[in-house]
Amino acid sequence: MRPFAHFNAGTVKEACKLLAKYDGRAVLNAGGTDLLGTLKGENLFEYPEALVNIKTIAGLDQVIEKKGFLRIGALTKLSALVNSTLLKKRYPALSEAARTVATPQIRNAATLGGNLCQDVRCWYYRYPRHIGGPILCARKGKGPCLAVKGDNRYHAVMGAKKCFAVCPSDTAVALAALDAQIKIAGPEGERKTAVTDFFSPLGNSLRRGEMVTGVEMPSVEVESKQAFLKFTLRKPVDFAIVSVATVITVKAGVCTDARIALGALAAGPVRASKAEKMLVDRSIDEKAAADAAEAALAGAKPLSMNAYKIEIAKTLVKRAILESL
Ligand SMILES: Cc1cc2nc3c(=O)[nH]c(=O)nc-3n(C[C@H](O)[C@H](O)[C@H](O)COP(=O)(O)OP(=O)(O)OC[C@H]3O[C@@H](n4cnc5c(N)ncnc54)[C@H](O)[C@@H]3O)c2cc1C
Ligand code: SF4
Repeated sequence: MRPFAHFNAGTVKEACKLLAKYDGRAVLNAGGTDLLGTLKGENLFEYPEALVNIKTIAGLDQVIEKKGFLRIGALTKLSALVNSTLLKKRYPALSEAARTVATPQIRNAATLGGNLCQDVRCWYYRYPRHIGGPILCARKGKGPCLAVKGDNRYHAVMGAKKCFAVCPSDTAVALAALDAQIKIAGPEGERKTAVTDFFSPLGNSLRRGEMVTGVEMPSVEVESKQAFLKFTLRKPVDFAIVSVATVITVKAGVCTDARIALGALAAGPVRASKAEKMLVDRSIDEKAAADAAEAALAGAKPLSMNAYKIEIAKTLVKRAILESL
């Protein structure tokens, strides 16, 4: 690792002030499970001058359901999401998504904010210095995307143009199905953005000096059923090839609300809105689930090596919908 200045931020305001002062040359350190690896591997061209530790900020690690909203602080550990009785009972898609992340050791250190803001896993992008990296590519600001003509078996099949890396965050997929908003603080005050709008083709929508302070979502209806399904190559520790989260409400045998989010197919979680609309006002059966799965993936366009992801995604969507019966 190279040397850097280190600060322990006592408040959100202090952390944002430090980020603004360093003007893009400082990074936040939460659990450090992603950040420290990228610093050690030196797989990026830019190296931060300063690290701002945010674990020292009090009060950002709460899970609270109140007045029709569930709020979760950015510093809540993934293990706390897995073990929360409230989440297991009422928001199982999120608790299950957190459970599928990495190992118990990593989940004990990793935070929700860090999981949402972690960097992509594209192997060209992460090529470490000790074996010849870093490598330039579109995401690093120069050159083409190497995955387009290269080995793209794990890359995007939806919506990508410049960079085909997929969002690696599992919690983002569950949060998208739960209609969550991401809470952001910065030099201009506080703002919120939908999870699906938070991710951008080359990163996320955080502006200079901003940090994530938590997430907020409407309380789920008592009748709704949730699922989070993830397909990986290795078990038990691996990033998703595809993941799907669903929140489906059925009343008197008829679907009144359907939310379906697809993960690891694009730069961020994607809501399958056409498929959701197809399910509403219908009774859910094998045929309805299969039709919705086809509709969910209708706009997907594979690269040379990743068409298999589309078929896996259809199967997961169908299974997740049928789990809500
Ligand atoms: C072996 C291994 C397997 C993994 N498997 C999975 C998996 O299956 N699914 C999955 O989703 N993830 C997986 N991960 C990634 C892991 O979930 C992330 O490393 C972790 O969630 C990051 O959280 P952290 O608190 O440690 O973040 P850090 O490493 O501290 O930070 C990560 C990034 O987010 C930024 N950041 C952190 N907090 C904030 C904030 N509040 N506001 C703004 N920016 C912030 C940091 O500046 C940094 O750029 C895996 C990681 C490893 C090492
Ligand atoms: S997918 Fe993105 S990160 Fe990977 S090589 Fe292409 S531009 Fe770079």
